[in-house]
Amino acid sequence: PGAVASDKWYPAPRGGTDQDWADAYAKAAKMVRQMTLPEKVNITTGTGWRMGMCVGNTGPVERLGFPSLCLQDGPIGIRFARNITAFPAGITIGATWNADLMFEHGQAHGKEARLKGINVLLGPTVGPIGRSPMGGRNWEGFGADPVLQGIAAAQTIRGIQGEHVMATIKHFVGNEQEHFRRPWEWLTPYAISSNMDDRTLHEMYAWPFAEAVKAGVASVMCSYNQINNSYACQNSKLMNSILKDELGFQGFVQSDWLAQRSGVPSALAGLDMSMPGDGLKWEDGLSLWGPELTKAALNGSVPMERLNDMVARIVASWYQVGQDDKKKFPEDGPNFSSWTQEKVGLLRPGSDDVLTGVVNKFVDAQGKGKDAHKILARKIAAEGTVLVKNEGNILPLKKSGGKPKMGPKYRVGIYGEDATVNPNGPNNCPDRGCNRGTLGQGWGSASVEYPYLVAPDEALMAAFNNKTVKVSKFTTQEVPKLQKGKFLHNQDLCIVFANADSGEGYIQPQDQIAGDRNDLRLAKRGEVLIKQIASECGGDGSSPTIVVLHTVGPVLVDPWINLPGVKAVLFAHLPGQESGNAIADILFGAVNPSGRLPYTIGKKESDYGPSRKIIKSSFPDPLWGPQQNFTEGLYIDYRYFDKHNIQPRYEFGYGLSYTTFRLSSLMIQPKLPFFKHITVLPPPENTTVTAPDFNKSIPDAQEALFPVGFRKLKNFIYPYIDKVSDVSRTGRNTSVVTNETVSNPASSYGYQGGHPGLYEEFVEVSASLTNTGDRDGSSVVQLYVSFPQDYHDSVTGKKVDFPVKVLRNFKKIHVPGGNRRAEVIMSLTRKDLSYWSPERGNWVFPERGTYKIMMGFSSRDIPMKMTGTLD
Ligand code: BGC
Ligand code: BGC
Repeated sequence: PGAVASDKWYPAPRGGTDQDWADAYAKAAKMVRQMTLPEKVNITTGTGWRMGMCVGNTGPVERLGFPSLCLQDGPIGIRFARNITAFPAGITIGATWNADLMFEHGQAHGKEARLKGINVLLGPTVGPIGRSPMGGRNWEGFGADPVLQGIAAAQTIRGIQGEHVMATIKHFVGNEQEHFRRPWEWLTPYAISSNMDDRTLHEMYAWPFAEAVKAGVASVMCSYNQINNSYACQNSKLMNSILKDELGFQGFVQSDWLAQRSGVPSALAGLDMSMPGDGLKWEDGLSLWGPELTKAALNGSVPMERLNDMVARIVASWYQVGQDDKKKFPEDGPNFSSWTQEKVGLLRPGSDDVLTGVVNKFVDAQGKGKDAHKILARKIAAEGTVLVKNEGNILPLKKSGGKPKMGPKYRVGIYGEDATVNPNGPNNCPDRGCNRGTLGQGWGSASVEYPYLVAPDEALMAAFNNKTVKVSKFTTQEVPKLQKGKFLHNQDLCIVFANADSGEGYIQPQDQIAGDRNDLRLAKRGEVLIKQIASECGGDGSSPTIVVLHTVGPVLVDPWINLPGVKAVLFAHLPGQESGNAIADILFGAVNPSGRLPYTIGKKESDYGPSRKIIKSSFPDPLWGPQQNFTEGLYIDYRYFDKHNIQPRYEFGYGLSYTTFRLSSLMIQPKLPFFKHITVLPPPENTTVTAPDFNKSIPDAQEALFPVGFRKLKNFIYPYIDKVSDVSRTGRNTSVVTNETVSNPASSYGYQGGHPGLYEEFVEVSASLTNTGDRDGSSVVQLYVSFPQDYHDSVTGKKVDFPVKVLRNFKKIHVPGGNRRAEVIMSLTRKDLSYWSPERGNWVFPERGTYKIMMGFSSRDIPMKMTGTLD
């Protein structure tokens, strides 16, 4: 009553309609038709937490050659495994704005997964998108914009799945804060509800998921939170309507771990796989599916058609990436354990099973020689470093130092705990759940064990020429009075490191941060340290200070950015294992900086507007759970700054280089014949295929009984039932709030990504990019669109509100120095030039009014604009 309600949409569309998946579905149908009821259920349900080597393990159907699937985190590396690469995090990858590197990261990540025997990688992450700059898991994704997230996700997925590993796009959707993401962690009856309107959902939060589906992603993970007061994993509007109908998603939806909150409703709403198989609690042996799904199928509450579709979707995804082919996917299951580092260990540590075996084969997945993944990790970490200030071109540094103020050698001081490795080792805290030593990853399920961590202090000491330079370090958060003379006042150059950390809500509180950050300041009094160094370097701040920040997202720099001593500032984000090497590459100019901010840095916290606020109290919504209203709609990050004319400190898309660039000769070329400039596309010519049919009749319950003499393990999830008479009983009843109303019409196109016409190239935009400096370098050219500001929807007659501008494409281009040039060509699709109309339930191209197409170097530095008026 009174609470926001979600739309209803039934029944679940079946998979197997897209031409690209036709072969996979044909093979899957053949296999699924031979399965018994418990075999089918076995594939849809995890065997329980720690009932296999991976964080998620499904039941196999050995009789037909379908294996148990290993699902493992993702997305920055292979969680819990040894001999893997600790890659830079999503936010660092996003900051490269380099689509090729995004692909290469996906490929290397996929390769490591394949070598470890992982079937399904639990990444990439595009939700949270970063509605609040303080969201605890923002760093797993690529930045605070749907287009940046979408392109990065699609590239990552193509990379992963090209290696015959299924990718998972997560978390669908609206998981924008950690507080109250799941009820038991935060002691509320229900998880938080992210309440948003349909246009916001389509244009912001679901946009990157659409790109992922278009790229052919095999799996989508539904999130912990509710959307409009219906849990994401039982929300028919989200799964049935948006994912499976509108976006024609052909793969399977899996629940986040224990995000499934009901049995039958989740099945009917479009969930296909229950993870990790345990139901409402960890390791209690009580699944919401498993035997309960078997019963639900037998008593008709879940139609066989729905169950067949779940299984077909999972089996087809397995065929689609080629895992049935030994040559493509040779491993027979995972060759590592998430639960022990020993060679021999328990096979099902979550149960009472004492069976042990070789669980860790320590396969080296890191690549070798010129294909070693550490080369790629270093490259991404360097390219994901954003230079925001470089006064008097103090950077790049010379390895030989410079002219010493006194004495024979140039003196360099390195400061801050963030410059050095945690003295207890880089893997000291589980899932990286503490902020000690240099920060290379955030914390939570996305983190990995470092194989090694090159700290900045080591790398810089090694890089400076020790014949001419004396490097000293003071890697604490303060230089004590007695040491100042020697270690601070005598220096010719100071380099200070500081950080800001955040992570997943199950580790809390950590340095008083329960997942989400409390503010946008540096951790551990980093500001005080920077002020001290900048004002006392060389005695009185007359020697320059360089500030390097390792952060999960934006931090406020205004408390110190204008101190005269602060000459250069770098956002090095979360660089992973190659941290020190990457920062040395940038500081000494082996790599010319080309990273750009994937979010805005404001001057103060309130500049970000109301969406920055993390809800931290469940009051006053005890009944429906905490309510987070996304009332800002489309206006987060730069869109909010633009709308309210707030001058950011450093804007979205901003970053410096050691060279300079100029854009010229903007050209816009329509690509489609004029008659296609219609407001709403008619349904496409039907080239989809028909979803496979299965026998819909309910099998005999005898088929689902535990086999005679079966030895049950404690808490293990099986698909079998004990007696036929159980079937009539109602399944485990769980009190669930599902506030769903209204039924929406179907679009039913069945194409992956939605109506193919939305992705047709509408216009081509080109320009010329000149490197006006001496040094070779890369620039990120960004394409922004401004929609007609006076447009009225012709159906509703209402004026449509549009952001000042939105990013629609980007390209990183390398140009040699010395006035050389390169051509930049980018395209805009119909979808790029459309808005979502909730009234029509469709994308609408405003066919009248004035568009602005803009090419620039950031969201505020836009040298090239062209307006076009349609009437
Ligand atoms: C586990 C993670 C899991 C998380 C979910 C933790 O205890 O280590 O794998 O993602 O719980 O809450
Ligand atoms: C996280 C997911 C993760 C899963 C398995 C959950 O707690 O939200 O991102 O994939 O655990 O570890």
